[in-house]
Amino acid sequence: MSTSYQTLVAGLSELGLTAMHDGVDAVIDAVNSGSMSFTEGLDRLVSMELKKSRTRRMESITAAAHFPSKKTFEQFDFSFQPDLRKDEILDLQELRFMEDGSNVLFIGLPGVGKTHLAIATGMAAAQKGRTVYFISCHELLENLRKAKAENRLEYRMRHYACYSLLVIDEVGYLPIDGEEANLLFQLVARRYEKKSTIVTTNISLGKWGDMFGDAMVANAILDRLLHHSKVFTIKGRSYRTKEYSEKVADAKQ
Ligand code: ADP
Ligand code: MG
Repeated sequence: MSTSYQTLVAGLSELGLTAMHDGVDAVIDAVNSGSMSFTEGLDRLVSMELKKSRTRRMESITAAAHFPSKKTFEQFDFSFQPDLRKDEILDLQELRFMEDGSNVLFIGLPGVGKTHLAIATGMAAAQKGRTVYFISCHELLENLRKAKAENRLEYRMRHYACYSLLVIDEVGYLPIDGEEANLLFQLVARRYEKKSTIVTTNISLGKWGDMFGDAMVANAILDRLLHHSKVFTIKGRSYRTKEYSEKVADAKQ
């Protein structure tokens, strides 16, 4: 006949509670020696299991998010962009904007850190267990257009609509025709006031009409994106050319 200890250990293993399984001996010893109450011991074991399951969830969300690289707020040099509202940027990692499905727009010329900040916010969301997906605008529209041609638009739309946070990178780098503008509108309308979207763009909002084949649809998209939103216009220099000029300066020394 097996002892209650043996059935407990086997049960934890069968349930896949590996952290509790690995920690149970130390907790039993602590409870037996009187240094921990039964409730404290059980709480310790549950905390270990919860920690493991949260870490696993965070890792799987981060892997599914398709971030092109790892970027964090700590890596961002705010002194290089002195006009940027640092406190407001850092507040993004608290994810308060996601409570009411607000959006975040980063506007600025190439190299000023738009994608960096979008990824950093996305990684902060993944760390808190929120589902995230990162995609360039060009790839997003290509996928939607393809899905429409293959009669599976609804399925694709639902896929992009379901994430708690969607990052659409590089809106405006390539022209967007009338059909694509319509597809983008449908997606933005579905997410409106429910799920948050981060957009990075090199085109100032006043010129969005020119970028889209259809100015009416461009306005409708902006209307929904901006209704509940935080807009950051980054006016500083390109970090890429900074790194380049430093290398040239080093080479000359
Ligand atoms: P954008 O999307 O605006 O074109 P990126 O975010 O891709 O620019 O930035 C270009 C490169 O420079 C990236 O490697 C990014 O991590 C880095 N970078 C940009 N701004 C900063 C900054 N202020 N501090 C640290 N790294 C930065
Ligand atoms: Mg970018």
